[in-house]
Amino acid sequence: MSLRPETRAVHNSKIDPASGAIVPPITLSTTFEYETTGMEQDPEQLIYTRWQNPNRAALESAMANLEGGAVAHAISSGSAAMLTVFQALRPGDHIVSSDDMYFGIRVQLNEFLAPWGLETTYVDMSDLDALRAAMRPETKLVILETPTNPMIRLADIAGAAEIAHDYDAMLLVDNTVATPVAQNPIQLGADIVVISLTKYIAGHHDVLGGVIIFAEVDEFAERINRLARIGGAVLSPFNCWLALRGLQSLSYRLRAHSESALQVACFLAEHPKIERVLYPRHPSHPQYDLALRQMEFGSGLMSILLKDGRDAAIQLVNRLQLFTSATSFGGTHSLIEHRESIEEGSSTPANLLRVSIGLEHPADLIADLRQALA
Ligand SMILES: *Cc1c(COP(=O)(O)O)cnc(C)c1O
Repeated sequence: MSLRPETRAVHNSKIDPASGAIVPPITLSTTFEYETTGMEQDPEQLIYTRWQNPNRAALESAMANLEGGAVAHAISSGSAAMLTVFQALRPGDHIVSSDDMYFGIRVQLNEFLAPWGLETTYVDMSDLDALRAAMRPETKLVILETPTNPMIRLADIAGAAEIAHDYDAMLLVDNTVATPVAQNPIQLGADIVVISLTKYIAGHHDVLGGVIIFAEVDEFAERINRLARIGGAVLSPFNCWLALRGLQSLSYRLRAHSESALQVACFLAEHPKIERVLYPRHPSHPQYDLALRQMEFGSGLMSILLKDGRDAAIQLVNRLQLFTSATSFGGTHSLIEHRESIEEGSSTPANLLRVSIGLEHPADLIADLRQALA
């Protein structure tokens, strides 16, 4: 029976054989009894929780299944997931990455990995010719974030996969914003997908986590598997359990986030105090056609640019009542943030606010924006 993603997400773990519990128990034990036979252990045998844990195994298999990958590794955060991938590369390897990307990942590359001999070239990934021009014989990894954060630019995943593969490089897509519900990078040719579970997957602002998903179990996937277990940046059983619970309602939450975000984007795009709205599924987006082709929904993240500059942006944040001034996105509460103030060495426009549309009623959110902009 080929089940749709909503159904697979609900049936994402087995009934507990010991108790019949529908919700899996949380296995906090760090160590497991095993039989001493003097022979090599069965690889399925639980031994130590850094190596494997039932809650982590359940989350990993559900994430691989939803993303259409062969295997997944749950890591302590989205950032640690990216760092694990970088650590599995070798000195002298070259990376090509989006010039607009989650700023913490850029700091990893520039501050910590460059001195270890990993060089990165940043390009505007909305221009595939720029990507092709940046490729070198030693390029091992191409990193796409689409939509990007906070400029909400898109990149053509299938086109980038073709270029990466022409050079025997792997394509990694950060699918945190769209999630597998709205966009399937592996179906479009990506080799690796990284997702911060902290955002839409867990979905309630209460879990820090990340996952690395591989299209195939190849040599690099095996290297990451060992690095995760030996390096030890694995996700805790409780956070795995919470993320797996969040996953069950992801499809419906993302649909609601997306529908509300489109309504808010339409309201703001017409507002005289707003210079521009950046939202993938709003017709004013310069890559609207690509958004229609590549994304099922627009997700809940957008950026807005105010006509009256930085002060007007900060004033708007402080006048809003339902939108909390806070970082992150993908949870139940609507959040708004002046990115330039919190990004180190930011090149983000000073009049930009990043907005995460939560699960409040869109009419209430629009009414709050209307009063705050008046
Ligand atoms: C939040 C985020 C990350 C980092 O994830 P953490 O779980 O906060 O470490 C990486 N990429 C994107 C696109 C993100 O939004």
